Amino acid sequence: MSFSVGIVGLPNVGKSTLFKALTKQAVDISNYPFCTIDPNVGVVAVPDKRLEKIAKIIKPEKITPTVIEFVDIAGLVKNAHQGEGLGNQFLARIQEVDAICQVVRDFVNEKITHVEGRPDPQRDIEIVNRELMMKNLEKKPMLYVFNVDKETKPSENNIYLNLKQEAELSELTPEEIKELELEPSHLDQLITACYKLLDLITFYSIKGGQETRAWTLKRGLKAPQAGGVVHSDFEEKFIRAEVINWQKLVESGSWSIAREKGLLRAEGKEYIVQDGDVIEFKI
Ligand code: GDP
Repeated sequence: MSFSVGIVGLPNVGKSTLFKALTKQAVDISNYPFCTIDPNVGVVAVPDKRLEKIAKIIKPEKITPTVIEFVDIAGLVKNAHQGEGLGNQFLARIQEVDAICQVVRDFVNEKITHVEGRPDPQRDIEIVNRELMMKNLEKKPMLYVFNVDKETKPSENNIYLNLKQEAELSELTPEEIKELELEPSHLDQLITACYKLLDLITFYSIKGGQETRAWTLKRGLKAPQAGGVVHSDFEEKFIRAEVINWQKLVESGSWSIAREKGLLRAEGKEYIVQDGDVIEFKI
């Protein structure tokens, strides 16, 4: 199961810059058969400290994060809904995504033209939202990324990023960033915010110690549906699941100690999966 976020906004606001920064770290999509091969779709690993901690005690051969897709949708302009600037084509692509990340230009640079003459974040948002509204797309969950020159603190559904700087940082290794004493990337905030916006949770599988893997699930779904995300057999032939909260597992030190201590719970078909569950499906 994968969820996608469409990057929208007026032309020249920093959409491609954001897309490039997000997708710099290539993810091997053979692990994610549901992911599309499309140059405008970037598969981005969801940052996850819990996965690292689980892997530390399980010591698997392979650690696989869960992913979210970002779709670079070309710029919308005023009257896109009437076909202006290939608008209808772009609006149709927005129909397909689960959420919208609207990039708003909030930096001044005379050399970079603005379709409305000069940037005015509030007016620009209104133009884009009007186009979305004309296609009934304003219901889709949305967050705003303000592309700023200076750092500002994020707030609910608003994220302030210097995208040019983020694109430059994405070219460097973590070691280089440390050495140059640069402020680390804030893109994780955006990825995490999208995850929240979509009301998604993460659960984990350990596959008998071979692979520790994070999976995405819509909040409120039950154990067999979570099984179906891992393998269709786990849904169709679901009998029960062994479940433990990730932190309890880490504190136990290993899966077998957790079992000895009686910390693995047997859950049935009606169990609603919780964020942070580590699950072994029994069929
Ligand atoms: P798009 O049309 O929305 O995809 O915009 P681009 O990502 O192609 O960016 C348009 C231009 O603005 C490029 O030349 C970028 O390098 C530049 N740009 C993007 N973000 C920033 C920023 O935060 N500050 C400045 N000064 N320039 C930026």
